[in-house]
Amino acid sequence: MKTYHLLLILHKWYWLGNNVVESKEFLKLILDSISEHIVVINELGDIIFVNRSWQTFGQDNNCSCDVQWRQQNYLAICESAAKQGDEFGIKALAGLQKVINNQQQEYYLEYPCHSDTESRWFLMRAVPLEYQSQRYVVISHLNITERMRAEQQLKMLAHIDGLTQLANRRHFDNFFEQEWSRCLRLKQPISIAMIDLDHFKLLNDNFGHLVGDICLKSLANLLTQFARRPSDLCARYGGEEFVLVLGNTHSEQAYQLLSRFMTQLTELHIEELHNQQLTVSIGLATLVPGFLDNATTLIDMADKALYQAKETGRNKLVVAQTQTDIVSKMPLTRGIE
Ligand code: GH3
Ligand code: MG
Ligand code: MG
Repeated sequence: MKTYHLLLILHKWYWLGNNVVESKEFLKLILDSISEHIVVINELGDIIFVNRSWQTFGQDNNCSCDVQWRQQNYLAICESAAKQGDEFGIKALAGLQKVINNQQQEYYLEYPCHSDTESRWFLMRAVPLEYQSQRYVVISHLNITERMRAEQQLKMLAHIDGLTQLANRRHFDNFFEQEWSRCLRLKQPISIAMIDLDHFKLLNDNFGHLVGDICLKSLANLLTQFARRPSDLCARYGGEEFVLVLGNTHSEQAYQLLSRFMTQLTELHIEELHNQQLTVSIGLATLVPGFLDNATTLIDMADKALYQAKETGRNKLVVAQTQTDIVSKMPLTRGIE
């Protein structure tokens, strides 16, 4: 092929290509093929363009942004959400205003957008756009639900004990600290029980570690039934030791609840144990937190009560002695008949 033929072909291709790319219809089709929801606003916040993904999302979610999107003001929508106390509405409004006022060249916000049937998260990205001396902002919304779900799953795994599926020590530490602060603020009593399996080493030696594991799982399963309220938590404290936190629960209530737990534990039928009974010793402590106490004081008290339960024969529940009226009404040591 002669060189000038090749040049002719390239020239023809170039013009064809350019014509196509310059076509508004072609550019719109490209925008409509993008899965991100795209909306363009002017300096006042008026919506001047949306792509097909935006429209489809609006239709699927019964938003007015579907049909009458041209009459909508994006900033007004954020402002209305902000006025209702929506923290993401407040953040989005502040971020967009910074981009509009040229104080920021890019703004990102991850926010939840749950429907009645599914949890969803989006990443909003806003960038300025200058066209014929007018300033616009291009806002895109990318669905990041899968990534958020994976992150939540990881977070959950980091707080769960693999064997028993109870909260682990780290989760317990956080929860207890928060619950302690809440009870301090509201002047409510908080109870904590340290629960330790009796002669568990012997059980492992006699029946093997696998049977030991089955016992730990069975106990954990039963214990979760005694931590039903949002202010309750049971956790694996370590090895064969468990902990139960009961927020806004005074000593008598906690004592009744743990007595029932001990009774139900003896009724637990674990086939592999061949009639040997699984028992626990429990140290229970209750305090109405004061500004001079701290959360570890209560754990120390429960620990000492547990030690006393072990020392005085095991398979019993010992209530720690405290200065508070609520607890001092209780007998110091009570075994379970
Ligand atoms: P005590 O009544 O004084 O509490 O005696 P104990 O034998 O229960 O206490 P000790 O501290 O002597 O032994 C605890 C045992 O718990 C030893 C350890 O092998 C066992 N253990 C800790 N974690 C696990 C576990 O995950 N699975 C099994 N099967 N056993 C465990
Ligand atoms: Mg033990
Ligand atoms: Mg122990």
